[in-house]
Amino acid sequence: MVDGENNKGTIDTVQVALRIRPLMRTEIERGCDECIEVVPGEQQVQIKDLAFTYNYVFPQHITQQEFYDTAVKSLIGKLFQGYNVTILAYGQTGSGKTYTMGTNYSGSDGDFTRLGVIPQAVADIFDFIETHEDKFIFKVTVSFMELYQEQCYDLLSGKERGHSIIEIREDINKGVILPGITEHPVSSTMETMSVLERGSAGRVTGSTAMNQASSRSHAVFTIVIAKESKTDKNIATTSKFHLVDLAGSERIKKTKASGERLKEGVKINQGLLALGNVISALGDGTNRSFISYRDSKLTRLLQDSLGGNSLTLMVACVSPADYNLDETVSTLRYADRARRIRNKPIINQD
Ligand code: ADP
Repeated sequence: MVDGENNKGTIDTVQVALRIRPLMRTEIERGCDECIEVVPGEQQVQIKDLAFTYNYVFPQHITQQEFYDTAVKSLIGKLFQGYNVTILAYGQTGSGKTYTMGTNYSGSDGDFTRLGVIPQAVADIFDFIETHEDKFIFKVTVSFMELYQEQCYDLLSGKERGHSIIEIREDINKGVILPGITEHPVSSTMETMSVLERGSAGRVTGSTAMNQASSRSHAVFTIVIAKESKTDKNIATTSKFHLVDLAGSERIKKTKASGERLKEGVKINQGLLALGNVISALGDGTNRSFISYRDSKLTRLLQDSLGGNSLTLMVACVSPADYNLDETVSTLRYADRARRIRNKPIINQD
């Protein structure tokens, strides 16, 4: 049995991982207690009188490398078999989404194992390519976009924010297309990481200019991998790998928002609600043609990468601190809905 495979020889097309971050120093100083307990030997947590089980539960002490090796590494092989893969980090602001995804990369000493999912995945992708270049031709491109207030912005366009708006269209043959989006060709780990770094920097600048924190938008880093056999052009796959750092899931009531902030919060919640509905419908076994991807830009953007020939990992990030209890329970419930999964046979093309 390989990682991600269950004991029926099938793969869970939607998997849910729960990651609990450690208490922060400021929380310890404020006398916060932990309100969530991991059940030893089980992928289960208990909170108040509730219990939730997921595909994976990662307690506070788990390192970036342990998280990646257990929940993500095996998905890289699937990408090269032609599956689309989507990894989404969900949770309230401050729960560890960006830390887990590694979205706001700003340089490294070359040791990516201490960093989040994106740097580690990128390093693995180029390792794979290096060891298979004798038989295949690979083309890798990356895009980086931000969804804010139901608008999609190209973070790599190099243009002013107002001029980097991208339309989302659907094409019968090609699936989701984003006319005009920057698709940056990359040929090494470091080159990809510098593109990520540039996009993240643009995200922060844009946010400040608009007086917004990046936690109020969804960041989507997409790696497209085309693989073609050197001896037989008919043996070719193209896969999309979406790495999504979602906007903070905190409820509007708690943030006491009004005016623009309230409108913004409503849009964030719409997107997260639509995403939850799509993932849960996929889990219920609903026919894809009946799934309402059109309810938000986020689900439209991801529609050919959720369901069908796609593997999805939702990472629910939570704080263990008791003052976050309500938000933590709300994240656990959201993740629980996503976990009602359907299985499909593994196609092994190795
Ligand atoms: P979010 O993206 O959900 O708003 P962040 O990823 O920015 O949250 O995390 C909030 C803070 O907690 C950051 O200072 C981050 O470094 C820290 N943090 C989050 N998860 C962990 C973890 N698993 N181990 C250590 N520190 C963490």
